Amino acid sequence: MSVTFFTPAPVSAWAFSCGHENGVTAHRFATWQEASDFLNDQARDDLGTGALAVCGDDYCFAFGRMMTHAILENGGPSMQVSNHNAVRILAAIGLTAREPICGEREAENFMARVITSTPTDVHTADCLHKLREIAEFALETGRPVVWA
Ligand SMILES: [Zn+2]
Repeated sequence: MSVTFFTPAPVSAWAFSCGHENGVTAHRFATWQEASDFLNDQARDDLGTGALAVCGDDYCFAFGRMMTHAILENGGPSMQVSNHNAVRILAAIGLTAREPICGEREAENFMARVITSTPTDVHTADCLHKLREIAEFALETGRPVVWA
């Protein structure tokens, strides 16, 4: 189990995906409804949506169950750590972690905690440096810092 610290990014457009990592299409629809309508038309006209598949997998091409896929705006920096490390890092910035480890703080609050914390070891210092980058991005974009 791991915990990722990040700033939640808004959806900038909708495309389709079969679920494979390389399976996101080049479509860009402004709304989920437009993407969904297109997908339904495709399914009706071609008896399936496999023709939209771009992953190269024969199964996807033949049986493609394409789904709408949210394209996120630049989400900025993120940091993934083990649950064990997340507990330690959160403690270093004065937050108590309970299972499941997740939470959210306004960027200003999070930044203040990172700036005033004192790392107890090199690894924590590295993590705090990365958290500062995330907090700076959150401040710039007016988003909170989230961990989950
Ligand atoms: Zn696929």
